[in-house]
Amino acid sequence: MKKTFKDIDVTGKKVFVRVDFNVPLNDEGDITDDTRIRAALPTINYLVKQNAKVILCSHLGRPKGVFNEKFSLKKVAVRLQELLGQPVRMASDVIGTSAKELTSSMKNGEIVLLENVRFHAEEEKNDDAFARELASLAEVYVNDAFGAAHRAHASTAGIARHLPAVAGFLMDSEILALTNATENAEKPLVCILGGAKVSDKIGVISALMTKANTILIGGAMANTFLVAKGYGVGFSKYEEDKVAVAKELMEKAESLNVNLVLPIDVVAGSEFSPNAKRKTQDADKIDKDYQALDIGKKTQKLFAKEIKNAKTIIWNGPMGVFEFKKFRKGTLAVAKAVAKSAAVSIVGGGDSVAAIQELGFANKVSHLSTGGGATLEFLEGTTLPGVAMLLDKEDGTKKVKTPDFAALDNKTINKNTASTKKPAAKTTVKSKTTKTATSKASSTKTVTSKPAAKAPVAKTTAKSAVKTKK
Ligand code: AMP
Repeated sequence: MKKTFKDIDVTGKKVFVRVDFNVPLNDEGDITDDTRIRAALPTINYLVKQNAKVILCSHLGRPKGVFNEKFSLKKVAVRLQELLGQPVRMASDVIGTSAKELTSSMKNGEIVLLENVRFHAEEEKNDDAFARELASLAEVYVNDAFGAAHRAHASTAGIARHLPAVAGFLMDSEILALTNATENAEKPLVCILGGAKVSDKIGVISALMTKANTILIGGAMANTFLVAKGYGVGFSKYEEDKVAVAKELMEKAESLNVNLVLPIDVVAGSEFSPNAKRKTQDADKIDKDYQALDIGKKTQKLFAKEIKNAKTIIWNGPMGVFEFKKFRKGTLAVAKAVAKSAAVSIVGGGDSVAAIQELGFANKVSHLSTGGGATLEFLEGTTLPGVAMLLDKEDGTKKVKTPDFAALDNKTINKNTASTKKPAAKTTVKSKTTKTATSKASSTKTVTSKPAAKAPVAKTTAKSAVKTKK
């Protein structure tokens, strides 16, 4: 277990909190979903209550190491201030004069937000001198950015060399929930995996196969499995170069006695468009001029039956093109089945979480994960650098175990696959996730474009009361 912000005394101390404020923005640069800001509030509020001096640091988008107004955190500061109901002072830089001046004059309980840490190329390079500069602003480091924990960057990992480093509330609850659902899962464990590409999820499928009783596969990635079974899939999106991998995964499932379930029928569309003509077809008989864009009714029933039997559920990825109204029923049916189930349920990934939220079922799920890549890597069993660098909880001898940085440099930061997972108590923390400002490009066979994601629009009507110190 990792130490948390509650395990150390922060009163009167300058606490550097790495948060994940990588919120989605529209073309005008306005925040379209503030879920990630809300997710950081418990940690911030706790620290303020403890009379700590709270220094917040985040990245936003991909400014590629240079200042870019488009990726400034100014609007985030405004929104944060509204949500907290207390002033947030905003530095106009990260480690420059503004940051130093603002953080050196802080009073207990005050909050300063630094500018986008990715305005410095050193951040993503995990440059030690830069990490040291960040650390020099504070006395304690709290990592609450679970969504960025799979990155070994200066503010997510390197800084922990120079300050006592502990987990924030969100980080802690994510670790607990994900560990609980994998290592301590009550069986049957049913995993539902969907989304665009098998290639993105091979690691997760392989890892979960050693733990799950049942794996349900939907979305475009199911098509690659259907092809591996020798079915024609019309002009459905699938990955030609992953057909062999899909075959291997099906064989592995059989040898491990895991019930790997593929769609038996699909809702096929005449084109990749929200207005496509649609018809339901058996999964082994998709017309040549049609493509599978959702799971069919028979599959929805089949998946719901499996979900009903589960004691633990892990769900990541939509069952179809959730962005198109005509092709979202399969994903919504799975969301309903998961919400109805009494099992411990973990839901991650933008579309899956959006489906749960759209139906108003967020409080019927044990844990909505805020991580995209981080959640998948955690489930794969990868050691996340942002987690590995945190101090372990004190053992019986009261000694604090410091991370082995040299070993981490060689292994973790170069992305090893060893697991750091340890048993954890059950959690029913409800946090939310959302799509990030960046989107993945598709490299699969037939479909090259993706529909725009819909996200609820946050109210950011209040005028900026945030002071930006130059
Ligand atoms: P991921 O980021 O891997 O969770 O994938 C999500 C994306 O998969 C969404 O943009 C969906 O539109 C897409 N997707 C899911 N099912 C299909 C399908 N049958 N055909 C094309 N795209 C799909």
